[in-house]
This record gives sequence, C-alpha cells and structure tokens, in this order.
Amino acid sequence: MENEIVCIGCGSRIQTEDPSELGYTPSSALNKEPIICQRCFRLKHYNEVADVRLTDDDFLKILNEVGKTDALIVKIVDIFDFNGSWLPGIQRFAGGNDVLLVGNKVDLLPKSANKNRLINWIKQQAKELGLKPVDVTLVSADKGMYMQEVIDLIETYRNGKDVYVVGCTNVGKSTFINRIIKEVSGEQDVITTSHFPGTTLDMIEIPLDDGKAIIDTPGIINHHQMAHFVNKKDLKIITPKKEIKPKVYQLNEQQTLFFGGLARFDYIKGGRRSFVCYLSNELSIHRTKLEKADDLYENHKGELLQPPRVDELEDFPALVRHEFSIKDGKTDIVFSGLGWVTISEPGAVIAAYVPKGVRVYVRPSLI
Ligand code: GDP
Repeated sequence: MENEIVCIGCGSRIQTEDPSELGYTPSSALNKEPIICQRCFRLKHYNEVADVRLTDDDFLKILNEVGKTDALIVKIVDIFDFNGSWLPGIQRFAGGNDVLLVGNKVDLLPKSANKNRLINWIKQQAKELGLKPVDVTLVSADKGMYMQEVIDLIETYRNGKDVYVVGCTNVGKSTFINRIIKEVSGEQDVITTSHFPGTTLDMIEIPLDDGKAIIDTPGIINHHQMAHFVNKKDLKIITPKKEIKPKVYQLNEQQTLFFGGLARFDYIKGGRRSFVCYLSNELSIHRTKLEKADDLYENHKGELLQPPRVDELEDFPALVRHEFSIKDGKTDIVFSGLGWVTISEPGAVIAAYVPKGVRVYVRPSLI
C-alpha cells in the first residue's frame, strides 16, 4: 500500500475506523507528529494496557513462539467462568515449559468458600482438561487480593527465566498485568515492548531485576462465551462485580426458573429439593410452572424476562434445550459465562436452556 502510515510505537498500520483493532488512532490525533496509535499512547503515558483484536492465526503464532522459548508460563482463568475461559491446548504449546495456573476473580465467590478446596478443585479440573500445572493459586487482580502470593510464586518457579502471561479475553489479564506493574515496579516508565516475529503486535514487557521480563500476550477470544451474545449494557448485568449472593430455590418437580431471558432451568423429576443459583446479583430470576414456561417466554421475553431487551430480540439466538440426569453427588449445571446451579443430591432430571452457541455442562461442584 502506498503512503502507509505506521505507528512509531508498535509498527501497526494506522487506521481511524475501529478502536478495537490494531493501529487505531482518533482522527483528531492524526495531525500530531510523530503518529502513535492509541494503544501505544495509553501505554506510554498511563502505563495502561489495552486489548486489541487479533486473528486466531496471530494467536497461534504467538503461542508457538512462547513454546519455543525457555520461560515460565502464567495462565490466567476466570474462576467464575472456568471452562468458558479455559485456553485449550496450552500444555501442547507450552513445550517443556512450566505452567503456573492462576484463578482470577476469587472476590466473586462467597467468602465462606474454602481456598484450599477451591485450589484442589482447580487442580482436578486442570488435570481433566489435560494440563499439569507446576502450581495453582487464586487471586483477585481487581481487588488486589493475594497478589503478593502470586508474585512470590512467579519468582520461585521462573528460576531466572522470562515469564509469559497468557489467557482468554475477559479473564482479567490486563487488570492482572496493570496490578503487577504497580506492585513490582512502583515506578513509572518501566514498560518496554518486544516484538513477536510473524505478528504485527508488540508485547508489553515488565522488566525484572535480572534482565528478564514478564511479558503480556494478547487475550484470546473464546467464541462460546455468553458475553458474545449480549451487548455491553447487558454484559454489565450478567458479569458479577461483587461477591455473589447464592440464591436458594426449593422446587417441586415440573417447575422452571428463568435467568432473565438468557437461560432457563427446568426441574423435571427427582422430588422436592433445593437448588442453589450462583449468578450475578443483578440478574433477576423468575420462577414459574414448567407447563407455562414456553408461553411465558414467548410473551414476556425482552420485558419481564430480560436481558435481552425487546430491541435486541431480533439478533438474539433461540434457546436450545439440553437435558441432564444427575448421577453423582454435589453437581453444578454450568451456563457458560452466566453462572451455575448447584444440585446437592443425585437423582434429579433437569433441562438447561441456553442461546444456541453457548455451552452448558455438568461438573463436580465448585463450592
Ligand atoms: P482481559 O480481557 O483479560 O484483559 O480482562 P480485563 O482486565 O479487561 O478484565 C475484564 C473484566 O473483568 C473487567 O470488567 C474487569 O473489571 C473484571 N475483572 C478483572 N479482574 C477482576 C477481579 O479480580 N475480580 C472481579 N470481580 N472482576 C475482575
């Protein structure tokens, strides 16, 4: 392309159309010299890391490069959306490198949840997903909980090597990196960047005392997350901000719960029993009889049952039914990205409805 303008910071082609893509610069900033993209500007002036959208191809290249280095990999998952935020295949990409697994957003779980039990649960799940982490820990990057512990673990396991931080978008990776920048350096202007071969993106590096660095990699998009089916306003409703207050429902057979208009839970068979819902406190739950549930949804979606709102219904996928027969002890039915319902005894038959494309599954209970 002729006369292509590139950012002096990261080398991306400057564009003014899409703030979420590489090289975005507001047009008002174009007449300033030298030209620098918004991401590099914010990084330079505010030490703030912003996410950009990359192609899946770019991600693969980046993960491949990480695998070729001799480094510690810090993999972040969102404990509220464990499977939805799991980055598959990390063990393969890690090569021979150790992986330290960090469960973020622990502040969302009830304070009564036992930390060691949570860590053991994560270890067990990681094993089933094919990852054998060198260690597992929990943090709240947002609230600054257990940050010193994770910094100490990184120091222990990195053994004088570089550290790569990887994770899906929305797991809180930027918050984590920004928190580390504050806690590790306490200074301004500590950030440098390093270029990944084969991609247009520069990585954020936080220099460490021994000449090594903590390196941020771009967030990888997981297309099955509920987040992709709702708009920004609704995402605020379904994403818990504070400690979740579990809601307990005593249900008879043939009763239904609606989670806004986003998901539905039918209790089909198994005698009267209690169900504990772990969802954002802001999301309203509506209870009805199973026989009335279809009509209720048809007539009241977008109004009584929202989000999504009326004007969003057109683009909202149909709910798809998944039936489960609960055979094990304490079990969670997980609505990917929305939360879960805990069933404490085996023997229940239930149906879970989620928008087409969103995952729903059963797991041993987290709490
Ligand atoms: P990234 O896409 O992985 O870089 O994620 P961000 O750092 O942009 O965070 C995604 C969302 O999760 C934001 O709304 C954050 O405020 C929120 N978040 C990040 N860390 C935490 C945390 O420790 N606890 C809670 N409750 N929310 C968090």
